[in-house]
Amino acid sequence: MSTQGEQVTVARPVSKEGIGLHAGELCRVTLLPAVSDAGIVFVLGSGEAVPATADYVVDDERATALGRGQARVRSVEHLLAALYGMQVDNVCVKVEGPEAPACDGSAREWVDLLRRAGRKRLGAARQVRRLREAVWVGDGEAWAVAAPARGGLSLAVGVEYEGTAAGRQALWIRLSRGKFMRELAPARTFALREELEALRTKGMARGGSAENAFAVGRDGYSGPLRFPDEVVRHKMLDLVGDLALCGERFEAQVTAVRPSHRMNVELARALRARFLGERKGRGGGEERQR
Ligand SMILES: [Zn+2]
Repeated sequence: MSTQGEQVTVARPVSKEGIGLHAGELCRVTLLPAVSDAGIVFVLGSGEAVPATADYVVDDERATALGRGQARVRSVEHLLAALYGMQVDNVCVKVEGPEAPACDGSAREWVDLLRRAGRKRLGAARQVRRLREAVWVGDGEAWAVAAPARGGLSLAVGVEYEGTAAGRQALWIRLSRGKFMRELAPARTFALREELEALRTKGMARGGSAENAFAVGRDGYSGPLRFPDEVVRHKMLDLVGDLALCGERFEAQVTAVRPSHRMNVELARALRARFLGERKGRGGGEERQR
C-alpha cells in the first residue's frame, strides 16, 4: 500500500434530478460532504445506508444496483465512475427514487455536478493498494485480468459486436482526472437496435430515449457519435464505475475483454476479497509503506 495525496470530499451539497433509464421515473440524487475514511455511502429513501462496495450489489444485469434488505438503488455505475475518476473519496449520496438519473447516458453531468460542488481536502492520506499477483475472472468469451502495475490504474478494454456498425473496438487508458473527464465521461450508454425491443418487454430501458442513449444498428448509429469509438469508451466508463465497488483505490493494469456489469462486479469482488485478506493478514491494516 502507498499513499497518494489527501482524501477529498465535496465542498458543498449539490443535487441532480432526472429520469431513470430503467424505471423511467423521476429520481433525485444529492451529494453531501462526508468525513475521511467514510467512503461512498448511499442513503436510500427508507433511510438505509448502503456502502458502495461489491458486498452490497443486488443486481448486475445491464446496470449495477446496490441494496440492503428491501431498499435498493439501480444504475449507480456512472455516478460511481465519476466519483472514482474525479478522485472524490468520501461522499454521502442521498437518493430519492428507485435509481440514479440517467442524465445524457454518460457521466458528463455527474462530472459537472462534482465540479459545481467543489473539492474539499480532508487532511487524511489517501491509501492506494498494490496488487501482488494477477487476478482473473470470467470465462472463454468474456474475461478480465488485473495485474500488478505501478503508476495508478491502467485500463484496456476490448469489445466486439459482430454484424453491427460498432464491430471490434479496443482502447487503453492510464486513468487520471483529466483523461477521465475528456476521454471517458462523455461516452454515452448504447443498446443494440435488435436488443431494444427485448429489453422493453422485460420492463427495462423504459426511460431510454435519444436523449440518454444511442442505438447501434447493422449499418450505422441512431445519431451522431461523440467519439468514433464511443461504444468501447462507454464500456470502459462502466468498468471504472464497477471497479469503484472495490471500495479501495488501487494500482493495477486491468484488461477486460467483452466486459459486462456482472463480470466487472465479479472482478471488484475478487479484488476486494484480496485487499481485505491482506489487511487481515497483516494485523488490522497497519501496513508500513514499502
Ligand atoms: Zn453504462
